Amino acid sequence: MRSPYTLEQPPPSEPPDGVLSPSLWPVQVRWWRRHTPKGQARICAVCGQSWPCHSWACWDGQIGEAVEAAKRHQAQTASLRVPSSRSDIPASVSSPRV
Ligand SMILES: [Zn+2]
Repeated sequence: MRSPYTLEQPPPSEPPDGVLSPSLWPVQVRWWRRHTPKGQARICAVCGQSWPCHSWACWDGQIGEAVEAAKRHQAQTASLRVPSSRSDIPASVSSPRV
């Protein structure tokens, strides 16, 4: 699956909400950027293949799937309308006065 990102709009360093594995995101984005040609070059500087190279396509596919999962997550969250307030947790619990 192609990601929605392009050379003009690269993926953000911070994982979007609901991404499949947020800890993997920075790795995927780093490799996506490494296998992205600089300027007008259409040859990958890392693997020397004509771009889009095989590695870039793999990373882009992973990012695409992660973003798709994030979208589903955001849609679910929006439909559930879960209150984000945590005011029901008493503040004294975390700071006992001895
Ligand atoms: Zn490459």
